[in-house]
Amino acid sequence: MTADQADTHCPYCALQCGTRLSRQDGAVRVEPSDFSVNRGGLCHKGWTAPALLDTPDRLRHPLLRGPDGRHTPVAWDTALDRVAERLRRIRAEHGPDAVAVFGGGGLTNEKAYLLGKFARIALGTSQIDYNGRFCMSSAAAAGNAAFGVDRGLPFPVTDLADADTVLLAGANVAETMPPLLRHLERASLIVIDPRRTRTAELAALHLQPAPGTDLALALGLLHVAVTEGWCDRSYVAARTSGFDEAWQRALGWWPERVERVTGVPAEDQRAAVRMLTEARRAYVLTGRGVEQHSKGADTAAAFINLALALGLPGRPGSGYGCLTGQGNGQGGREHGQKADQLPGYRSITDPAARTHVARVWGVDPAELPGPGRSAYRLLDALGRPDGPRALLVFGSNPVVSVPDAGRIGERLAALDLLVVADFVPSETARLADVVLPVSQWAEEEGTLTSLEGRVLRRRRLLDPPAGVRGDLAVIQGLATRLGQPAARFPTAPHEVFDELGRASGGGPADYSGISYERLDAGEALYWPCPARPADQAAHPGTPRLFLDRFAHPDGRARFAAVDHRDVAEPATADYPLTATTGRVLAHYQSGAQTRRVAELLAAVPEVYAEMHPDTAAAAGLADGQTAVVRSRRGRMRARVKVVHTMRPDTVFLPFHFPGAGRANLITNPALDPRSEMPEFKACAVRIGPEDSEG
Ligand code: SF4
Repeated sequence: MTADQADTHCPYCALQCGTRLSRQDGAVRVEPSDFSVNRGGLCHKGWTAPALLDTPDRLRHPLLRGPDGRHTPVAWDTALDRVAERLRRIRAEHGPDAVAVFGGGGLTNEKAYLLGKFARIALGTSQIDYNGRFCMSSAAAAGNAAFGVDRGLPFPVTDLADADTVLLAGANVAETMPPLLRHLERASLIVIDPRRTRTAELAALHLQPAPGTDLALALGLLHVAVTEGWCDRSYVAARTSGFDEAWQRALGWWPERVERVTGVPAEDQRAAVRMLTEARRAYVLTGRGVEQHSKGADTAAAFINLALALGLPGRPGSGYGCLTGQGNGQGGREHGQKADQLPGYRSITDPAARTHVARVWGVDPAELPGPGRSAYRLLDALGRPDGPRALLVFGSNPVVSVPDAGRIGERLAALDLLVVADFVPSETARLADVVLPVSQWAEEEGTLTSLEGRVLRRRRLLDPPAGVRGDLAVIQGLATRLGQPAARFPTAPHEVFDELGRASGGGPADYSGISYERLDAGEALYWPCPARPADQAAHPGTPRLFLDRFAHPDGRARFAAVDHRDVAEPATADYPLTATTGRVLAHYQSGAQTRRVAELLAAVPEVYAEMHPDTAAAAGLADGQTAVVRSRRGRMRARVKVVHTMRPDTVFLPFHFPGAGRANLITNPALDPRSEMPEFKACAVRIGPEDSEG
């Protein structure tokens, strides 16, 4: 059943702006709903989201690739039978780990949960990970180590509205989530970014480090805090441990040395820490700019160290947080589609967690596989002798979004079977042997968890087009064909959510006290929200974490002893520039959705390369010309955009574009040893005109 109006949330980023959808004269209209996070605002993507619903190339039938390489529409039973038969054969010949699953940070909690369960008990494979590995994993690793739990913002977004000073490290919120600025109007902003972004233009202070040197800068800021006497010694003594070891590492990073490494003037470093110290309410927030590095977890940890030294986390009106990117980047990393994780943010290697989840699933704990490969390693293993031979992709477009994309394209081509569930023919779907057309945001019910850890209801306005099924039904259809009872894979989202709640109960991300009924009654519920006995009042959820204690057993936060190291691929004489990638306001992730919205495509129709005029001139390039950007892995083409505020040693590339304009053709898959995050933000390149060797 559908309604003429639905209060739901934007299909794109983790801010999850509240929207009201309605049907008027046959068209779907969107307006901001009464929701505290976006306060009546939407960005360009949110306003134009209804255009996605009737995009002309919407997938409406399952497709099978024939011997001639062309996709042909087939019935659902034919497609699912074919997939199940091939999966059974591959498993029989090569074992359960020969089948892999790749999920997405945009999937609802229900889909992410059921996908993880499907992989572990219907396929019996350990080989599942998701594209959130490329988004949140460094901040998650640092947050878990420091605080004992990982929730992007451990406080409501609206708390930021009272801040005096906010440090944004590697977060360009003016482009990635503009309505957030409504909560930052009062604050003085300190922005750390190699580019003079729109956010940096709003800042009271812009620190512009060389790409890949944020860790040195964070160490320098801690050095300033301690040596200037601005460290909150009583907070450090009462609420933390590990300060001395962390300080030993920061000791050698005095501001003038940091200036030599990062290019940020020593005086600006002191000014930044002074602004944070003098503020009554201050926040340190990190984003992908500092996290998407081969040392991203240590860099996030170094900013947490700074926040702890200043006594911010857990202090009312102040704090540390990381700004989650994808729509369900938070919930998507909590319920079991990560290689090392079971629902409720439980570890798959923890015997007690395995027993608990296996009981909810009605299986023997010994049946649950162990941890699998992380995202890049998984994709890089496809089709190799010891790697998976089949891959099921849900809600992701790795052909565009994965580093060293040319190499990963070869791995996908080496598979025996590639199955993609999507609602548009993404670049990955075009390569698939079987394409399964699924519903999208306004056609489905579910929940997502926003960047502040609040669980939100996605509500259906429309039925999906004829021929399209929900992901939950697709998962059930495959599971039953693989011998599972249908009841073990429910298709009603509220049933899946209730089971997810039970599976998460007692875990770090405990949803067991949350229900559709409570959410639909308008309660604002933030995890953890444990179930309580029927004779007690329901748990109110936890909008603010850490007010009394951190989540480690001793209640203390942990400083991390981290030190700076260079990028994995420094500039050289052959590759003298550093390329860094990022997002633009008009597009989202791989662009598979936003490039299909005419208004957004008109706003930014093609990939460009931002560079300083001197950089362009030295390479024989002019504004508007096509440049070839080469790294050791490949080459891509981009329109030159001369920007006077760029660092002359840096080239910026948005990563939303396909084909020869894929920024990820040149990016470096060097992985962070703690989070397995690739180094999207820094690789050595050279540039030149199209007809040159560059
Ligand atoms: Fe959607 Fe994010 Fe834009 Fe809000 S800021 S409208 S959630 S894309």
